[in-house]
Amino acid sequence: MGVVGGRGGGPAHATIADVSELVQRYLDQILREHAGDTAGKLADYIPELAAVDPDDFAISVSSSDGYVYETGDTATQFTIQSVSKPFTYALAMDRLGEAVVDAHIGVEPSGEAFNEISVDRTTRRPKNPMINAGAIAAVALVPGTGDERFENIRGFYSGCAGRELDVDEEVYRSEEATGSRNRAIAYMLDSFGVLDADPDEVLDVYFRQCSLTVTSTDLARMAATLARGGLNPLTGRQVTTAEVVRRTLSVMTTCGMYDAAGDWVSAVGMPAKSGVGGGIAAVLPGQLGIGVYSPLLDDKGNSVRGVKVCRSLSQELGLHFLTVSRESRSTIRAVYDVDDDIRVYEVHGDLLFAGAEQVLRSIDRDSADFAAVILDVSRLDSVNDPARAMLLGLSAQLGGEGKAGFLVDPDRRVIPAEHPAADLCFPDVDDAVAAARAWLHSAPAP
Ligand code: GLU
Repeated sequence: MGVVGGRGGGPAHATIADVSELVQRYLDQILREHAGDTAGKLADYIPELAAVDPDDFAISVSSSDGYVYETGDTATQFTIQSVSKPFTYALAMDRLGEAVVDAHIGVEPSGEAFNEISVDRTTRRPKNPMINAGAIAAVALVPGTGDERFENIRGFYSGCAGRELDVDEEVYRSEEATGSRNRAIAYMLDSFGVLDADPDEVLDVYFRQCSLTVTSTDLARMAATLARGGLNPLTGRQVTTAEVVRRTLSVMTTCGMYDAAGDWVSAVGMPAKSGVGGGIAAVLPGQLGIGVYSPLLDDKGNSVRGVKVCRSLSQELGLHFLTVSRESRSTIRAVYDVDDDIRVYEVHGDLLFAGAEQVLRSIDRDSADFAAVILDVSRLDSVNDPARAMLLGLSAQLGGEGKAGFLVDPDRRVIPAEHPAADLCFPDVDDAVAAARAWLHSAPAP
């Protein structure tokens, strides 16, 4: 909640739509900004990928409490391809523990193409789980044989997405029919004793895993599950442990974006994984999960528009994970009521975009029965520009709702003195309450 300008015909109720609209409009705008960019090429190693609509474009963002914003072709299903790799790695870790997995797969960036037929010279293990050699070794570690192993994988991804995922049978058959290079990798691993399972069986599961279909929203939810340390915020199910997630995010950070990992970490700063199907899943630990779909790929195999969207989101919303803050998100520290119609919210910590979004949304959700709302930001340690814009933007929305909002902001860190709404800013709660009471008495009867 921020500060409101107008007061209309009685206390209308602000709804959850107010805050969502701000973020929604922002996402729509990012989509429009990048929609005209038609650079890149469709993957063409199998006919199914070469035949997808190159214009398809979708962005989904899941907050850490499971609220999803989406824009564009978010119902379009596409194959997960290599975005699957961190999830199978996580599953193997979850079932067998770090020591066993580490004995089979390294964690060093390879500096080689994703489908390079290579292993670490000394250890003879695949260098990391984000290249095909490591991903195939991870499949072999998942318990079960044949269908059972695949069902374990499908069940784990579905647990992260919060819905049952299915295989695109045509893509699967094509992957199988054209998979000579992956066969070469699997047999090489077998000869080095890295695969404790039949290479053909493992390959079959790997091809099916790559052919599972998702939407951008599924990817956002899967990413949000990682952002929550393995807890799916939609279903409330703990799909894996925080330790497994920490390791998974580590390899996504160093090896997730094919050969562009360094550029990605510098410019975007979120653990992420892309796939040749055109999907990218990006994770802001503790805060957000992002899923983008656009099938035109750059020469590294990353979605051109997907990378640009993630850059824009990161830069404009201040999402880089190495942005130093004392707390990764601010929280509502106290909520209390004064009289019957004034509700006070006290916020503390560092207010960043995701924190502001959640604070505003919970205020919207819980303050429906209150004509006046006071937001006390005097205990905030810091507030960044995107969070400030959220507070200011909401105030404009509430102006049309007939509700009044007052801000306790002694240092004027949220509303500058010259802002038109500055006269609704007070040095302490008592002054804000007095102003709210005066407003209530002068307001026309509903
Ligand atoms: N099925 C593809 C392969 O293994 C996945 C490629 C990718 O998305 O990187 O070659």
